[in-house]
Formats: sequence, structure tokens, C-alpha cells
Amino acid sequence: MKKIGILTSGGDAPGMNAAIRAVARRAYAEGLEVYGINYGFAGLVAGDIFPLDEEVLNDKIARGGTFLYSARYPEFAKVEGQLKGIEQLKKFGIDALVVIGGDGSYHGALRLTEHGYNTVGLPGTIDNDIPYTDFTIGFDTALNTAVDAIDKIRDTATSHRRVFVVEVMGRNAGDLALWAGVATGAEAIIVPERDYDMDKIAKRLERFREEGHDNAIIVLAEGVATAADFKAELDKHGDFDSRANTIGHMQRGGVPTARDRVLASKMGNYAIELLLQGKGGLAIGIEDNKITHHPMEDLFDEKHHADLDLYDMNNKFNQ
Ligand code: ATP
Repeated sequence: MKKIGILTSGGDAPGMNAAIRAVARRAYAEGLEVYGINYGFAGLVAGDIFPLDEEVLNDKIARGGTFLYSARYPEFAKVEGQLKGIEQLKKFGIDALVVIGGDGSYHGALRLTEHGYNTVGLPGTIDNDIPYTDFTIGFDTALNTAVDAIDKIRDTATSHRRVFVVEVMGRNAGDLALWAGVATGAEAIIVPERDYDMDKIAKRLERFREEGHDNAIIVLAEGVATAADFKAELDKHGDFDSRANTIGHMQRGGVPTARDRVLASKMGNYAIELLLQGKGGLAIGIEDNKITHHPMEDLFDEKHHADLDLYDMNNKFNQ
């Protein structure tokens, strides 16, 4: 193995740049040549590939987003698209790849491995919805962004004695809502992994009001409902002077936290170790604070499990 390629694919996440940098730095240390591939699998097929010079990486560890850009390119699910990508790898003499993205991207990565180009995947997504990893790159930054926003909303909720429904991202996973809810002392957390009973929530809010605690934050995972819809349903159960707020895409951006940078660095470093051992088709994770790997196909059969102890704990805090 002499030349490796790196691409980012699917939804962007803070810390992707730190991961690219780590992969490249470790690769240079091993005497490898490194190529950046722009726009994920779309750029691979289009040949948007360039040598990644060391200087390019200098200011990247602290930058949000991905300087290799990301794109969705469904055509890569077809063999035709994959073969076009292989042609480009041959043209540039790239022997192996690192793909940073979500589980969709892992499918693309596995196809490349099956075509003889060892590819290792790093979990880059704010949703934390990838199996066999306790945390994904970007989750911690998005969480801190959500917490910062909710703390601000709490101030105005307190001033006006209002109930705020705050929608956070996470797709079908409740992780962002669970962690942000606990971290901001939310009076209720609503996640796709658990059913909710609006009647009970309304009764809880009424009881709080009687006890003199007359503002509340409901942290809602986007996988359940929109903040507006949830608020409309809540309003049918009582007058809470409620407001709906969606934090939105700001959760996808921003300077990555130290935790995300370190996680990205460890995972990027490990990706090169696996490739040097001639391994591919593997997804890297962090489990019980150790960097691990699993065959990608195992991830497709497995579901991510949110930490629902947080949910139960938060309910007890608000009993
Ligand atoms: P996120 O969860 O953050 O959105 P993701 O990696 O799951 O990230 P997807 O849009 O599902 O995002 O996939 C990213 C890209 O991976 C697709 O646009 C496509 O190029 C490639 N891809 C997805 N599924 C497959 C597949 N079955 N076979 C080959 N390539 C695929």
C-alpha cells in the first residue's frame, strides 16, 4: 500500500476535518501518499481527487464542517457507479480508502472493499446513530451547541413563565435529545425509542405550576414530531403559554469540541493501522473508551441503542 484516499460522505459533522487530518498525518508518518476526494462518492466517480499536501492540514483540526465537502450520491448504490469509482482509483493509483460518514456511506465503503480496495469507515455524524460505537464524531459538538441554545431558551422561559418545546436533531435516534435534556434539566424528554403520553406530560406541567415551578423545557427528538406539531398537541391538554423552537442546522456546524477532536484523532490514527495490516470492510468505533472495529456488514444487521437509562433517570428527577 502506497497511496490512500480520504472522503467524507452523507451529512456533515463537526470533527470530520480533525478526522481527515489524523488519517493524513498518520499516513504521512508511515510514508504513504495521501489523496483527498471532494464531495464523497460523487467526487470519486467524477475524479475530483487531489494530493493532500501537509500544509493544507495545518489549520484544519479546529474547523467545523468538512473541507473535502460532502454530498449525497445515490448512484453509488449501483454497480455501474461503483465501477466508475474504481476506474478513478486505478487512474490515481490509490490502493485503499478511508470513508468518514454514516451508515449509508459504510455501504459504499463495503462495496469498494468487495471490489478489492480496502476501505475503513469512521463514524462521522451528529446523530450518534451508528451501532458498535458509544459515540460518533460530531455528537459531542452538536450536543454542546444544543445545550447552549436550550440554556438560552430557559432564560426566556423563566422570564415569561412559559413552556418551551425545543426540537433537536438526531434523525431516528434519541441520543441528542436524551443528553441535551439531562444536561439542561429538561422537565420532559421525548424520544423515538419511548412512547409518550401527552396527558401525563400536561398533568406533570400543571403540578409543577401548582408547586410554583412555572417554566419548563420539553426536549423533543426530531424523530418523534416537529416542535410545532408537538406544541399544538400539548396546547389541546392545557394552557401553558407554550412556544415551539427548532434549533436546526446550527447543530451541524461550529468549532468541534476537544472531545470530538480527540475522538476523531484516535479513530483516524487507527484507520491507518488497520489498512497497514491489509484489512478493509471495517467500521471503527469507541466502546467502553477503547477504539474498536467491527465488520461493516455486522453494523447493517445491528441497531444502535440509545442510553435509555438517561430517560428513566430524567423521569425520576421530574416525578
Ligand atoms: P448521515 O447518516 O449522516 O446522513 P450517511 O452516510 O448515512 O450519513 P447517506 O446519504 O445514507 O448518508 O449515504 C451517503 C452516501 O453513501 C450516499 O449518497 C451514497 O453515495 C453512498 N451509499 C449509500 N447507500 C449505499 C449503498 N447501498 N451502496 C453504495 N453506496 C451507498
